[in-house]
Amino acid sequence: MSQHFDVLIVGAGSAGSVLASRLSEDAACLVGVVEAGGMPTDPDIGDPLKWPALQGRVYDWAYRTVPQQYTARRVHEWPRGRIVGGSSCLHAMAHVRGHPRDFDAWAEAAGEGWSFDGLRDGFDRSERLTGQRAGLNGHEGDGPLDVFLPDDEVSPVVRAYMAAGTALGVPPLPDHNSGELVGTSPNCLTIRGGRRVSVADAYLTPEVLARPNLTLLTGHEIEHLELDGHRAVAAICVAGGSTERISAGRIVFSAGAVSSPLILMRSGIGDPQVLREAGIACVSDRKSVGRNLQDHLLALGNVYRSKRPVPPSRLQHSESLMYLDSADFSRTSGQPDIVLACVVAPSAAEGLEAPAYGQTYTLLCGVTHPTSRGNIRPSGPGRGDQPTIDPHYLETELDRLTFRKALRAARTVGHHPALDDWRDVEVQPGPEVQSDGEIDAFIARAASTHHHPAGTCRMGMDAEAVVDPELRVKGFHNLFVVDASVFPSLPSGPINAAVVAVAETWAARQR
Ligand SMILES: Cc1cc2nc3c(=O)[nH]c(=O)nc-3n(C[C@H](O)[C@H](O)[C@H](O)COP(=O)(O)OP(=O)(O)OC[C@H]3O[C@@H](n4cnc5c(N)ncnc54)[C@H](O)[C@@H]3O)c2cc1C
Repeated sequence: MSQHFDVLIVGAGSAGSVLASRLSEDAACLVGVVEAGGMPTDPDIGDPLKWPALQGRVYDWAYRTVPQQYTARRVHEWPRGRIVGGSSCLHAMAHVRGHPRDFDAWAEAAGEGWSFDGLRDGFDRSERLTGQRAGLNGHEGDGPLDVFLPDDEVSPVVRAYMAAGTALGVPPLPDHNSGELVGTSPNCLTIRGGRRVSVADAYLTPEVLARPNLTLLTGHEIEHLELDGHRAVAAICVAGGSTERISAGRIVFSAGAVSSPLILMRSGIGDPQVLREAGIACVSDRKSVGRNLQDHLLALGNVYRSKRPVPPSRLQHSESLMYLDSADFSRTSGQPDIVLACVVAPSAAEGLEAPAYGQTYTLLCGVTHPTSRGNIRPSGPGRGDQPTIDPHYLETELDRLTFRKALRAARTVGHHPALDDWRDVEVQPGPEVQSDGEIDAFIARAASTHHHPAGTCRMGMDAEAVVDPELRVKGFHNLFVVDASVFPSLPSGPINAAVVAVAETWAARQR
């Protein structure tokens, strides 16, 4: 069976949902979207409190890293959505644009179009702010993606944690997206009426899916591309046990930071040696494909037993990220180097003890701009060959040093008198863990992914970049990557807002 589209989008995740909706606004453009997973049917996906329980279900690709030298040789679970909506159906719903200066590195790599100012329209076009505090920062927006600014709903424990930060000099912010990022604020959340809003919920509404020029093919997994010289001709995919060929004028990868580089490599685009080891013939020598892998880690965490019952979260457990300059808590401008979060549920890494629900709260901590770089490789030529994912977590001395500062900052906030009404004792790492060596050993056991892999098909004007500033795969006229893979570096915060803004920005340039 063979089909043809003007544009074929691979993956209906965060970026793919935006692209499918925006590109099909042009009724003359025949848009096809292929998605390995199905439509969401599990009612738990919509319940913001259930997000941690979704991992490992049938719609999770459930990747695993190789053992990591600097995290006690642990293997890290990497959930990724295999479903319409992609990872935005599994994510924790925090909506953080990042600090405007985070995007200076993008502008340096790929031009001013990818600076914060270049992306601003994309952010604005995507968002619709709701909640009691919407509009306080001067814009509410009328985009498809609901961004809820909670107020009364915020847990009293989280309020005490924010008060501790403020008493230590941390500036209060109206919200994370009002300009500066260093400060305390409840999280902005992609929630509407108490329910998760995935990017597909926002962009692939029934009205959009009914457009005659848009075809969404679920249950279709792309294996590789058919290439002809400098053109991508078709995608070869497997659906229900049979193989299909889908040809297109343009092919756009939005398969995410794991799959986009993998499919490119399975198609013969990558480092010849990496491909040879996986039994794949190299068609285009592009050594950077799959490299530059970055991810945020969070230590789970600085756990406290509570003096009194901790009320259940009315939001999604982790209600407030606090971005900080570890050297000066009262600095009000510039990029943060560390982040804390207050979770009102037991949250401890595998193998570490956490008291029962309602008796505990946890301060998570992490590094906003990690300098360690990893890679993703195919282990074989087929879609059934699991990728080898090696994020090189905490490989650099700077990352380990900054993480130590983050844990010390969490303890400073956690032991502040503003939390006296809640804090009984510190359970993790525990008062006996004080020296640099002891803290490093604890972090190695406690560090877990914050779920933000990115950078594996990085954009740039340099010869080594995978895609050019138009997000076109170098060496191919009609092949593009538009998703978290193209990020040259991580923004400070969770990255879904930036993925959506990148897709909005790229789509606007196609008009
Ligand atoms: C547990 C968890 C918590 C998170 N929490 C947050 C948060 O609170 N805030 C935040 O901003 N970010 C969060 N993130 C990260 C955020 O969700 C992702 O960065 C973002 O969704 C990535 O978008 P994407 O378009 O690059 O990829 P995805 O959304 O993962 O989309 C890729 C799509 O491609 C499909 N696909 C892959 N391979 C193939 C193939 N071979 N054939 C066909 N289709 C294919 C996939 O099934 C998927 O639908 C979290 C992620 C997870 C997993």
